[in-house]
Amino acid sequence: MKRYQMLIGGNWVDSVSGQTRELRDPANGEIVATVPEASREDARAAIDAARAAFDNGPWRKTSALDRAKLLFKLAEAITKEADALARLEVQSCGKPLAEAQFDVADAANCFEFYGGLATKIAGETMNVPANSVSFVVREPVGVCGQIIPWNYPLLMAAWKLAPALAAGNTCVLKPSELTPLTALELGRIVTEVGFPPGVVNILTGPGAGAGEELAESPRVDKVAFTGGTVTGRKILQASATNLKKVTLELGGKNPNIVFADADFEAAVDGALFGAFANQGEVCSAGSRLLVERSIHDRLVAAMVEKIPRVKVGHGLDPATKMGPLVSGAHRDKVESYVRIGLEEGARLVCGGKRPSDPALASGHFLEPTIFVDVKPSMRIAREEIFGPVLAVLPFDTEEEAIALANDTEYGLAAAVWTKNLTRAHRVIRELRAGITWVNTYHPTFNEMPWGGYKQSGTGRELGLYGIEAYLETKQVNINLDEAPLGWY
Ligand code: NAD
Repeated sequence: MKRYQMLIGGNWVDSVSGQTRELRDPANGEIVATVPEASREDARAAIDAARAAFDNGPWRKTSALDRAKLLFKLAEAITKEADALARLEVQSCGKPLAEAQFDVADAANCFEFYGGLATKIAGETMNVPANSVSFVVREPVGVCGQIIPWNYPLLMAAWKLAPALAAGNTCVLKPSELTPLTALELGRIVTEVGFPPGVVNILTGPGAGAGEELAESPRVDKVAFTGGTVTGRKILQASATNLKKVTLELGGKNPNIVFADADFEAAVDGALFGAFANQGEVCSAGSRLLVERSIHDRLVAAMVEKIPRVKVGHGLDPATKMGPLVSGAHRDKVESYVRIGLEEGARLVCGGKRPSDPALASGHFLEPTIFVDVKPSMRIAREEIFGPVLAVLPFDTEEEAIALANDTEYGLAAAVWTKNLTRAHRVIRELRAGITWVNTYHPTFNEMPWGGYKQSGTGRELGLYGIEAYLETKQVNINLDEAPLGWY
């Protein structure tokens, strides 16, 4: 078992209270590490360190090219340690090793992408109706509080830190209290590659106290949050203290629409992958499968037949395709939705229970679960379950599919399966969601914007869009007339 400290102002420190938290492998309950349990006081120390590094440190004077080089070095160092990081990620949140390896590579790629972007931050010069040279400069926002969830611990840290650092900000990153380990390892790598002290601070603690302080503190200029919609609302309210800039990446109840003219086998695969990748603990999971009625029964039967291939087990077992849920409390919540679905009258065609294998008894496992006979008004069709529970609903027409897809308070992701090109374009145009796919599910790219419509969030991360939230815009007007104004 390893005893971690957190990173504040370039130093590795315990929490002021001395309190720690034990972290256990969700697949077998074994203790993996302890971490400091930060409180408001620790958060204030981390904010002070980020403030000092922004206001008085060398970081503000570091050129864009040097920031870029540091980000490239960071990407390279992550790649060198990819195997160990991926294994630690599996022990932290349970996901299968192949998925964790993909996440680590994607995180390195994200730092590389924003390393490239650091030197392209530019403002335009405008031809204004006055004898003036007028131009725009883009400047960092300042101290960024970054609060992330447990489902993609390292990747979410990369999504937050990479654009913020490329733009020249300083950061206090608070990983989820359940999964801080890879973020702490990332903090170590950040210091090793030469980022100045205080530029990146990693605060390990719960939302209550540590997280709240980041959202409320008037000494934080921007807060970037990824997590649940209920928490997002609290963050927005807390940020009103100093009207800090806010971006929110929240939940989803995403429609995956299969038309009868789709490639059948590809749609079966896409429906399963959309619902069960990362145990369904994905904000953009295809948790509502909308299927044209003429193929509904055949598609459900094909999915059920393939379900044994979604092999449940410890993420480090190479055969595993689905790991445990992140915690006992979270599995309880997901299981409560299985009961709700049954009480509402939906029909289980597979799963809904814990695996019978005694080797899995001490982990938070749940079988991949599919409900049919789901009505749009049911809670399992409306609420984000954030686990391996798929609700299947039939539709008869394209109009009905679109109406069902948009009948949600969320608007994060959506997909359409069809061979008809014009239909694909027509339907995508109508979908109220920020991330959409045709004949695929889940691929995301650091080059492309990520974020939601409606209550799935505000702002965009990744791509060229993702750096905007970390930049202020300043206009500069230089008077070319030397004579006094003569107004008075
Ligand atoms: P959560 O909202 O409970 O917690 C997220 C983070 O916020 C954690 O670090 C937590 O400690 C912190 N937090 C909790 N309460 C806080 C408060 N009052 N003030 C400040 N910080 C607080 O979410 P979770 O259970 O960790 O993650 C699951 C949720 O995240 C799901 O709803 C999922 O859809 C969402 N998510 C969204 C995206 C996206 O990109 N849109 C990506 C991943 C996860």
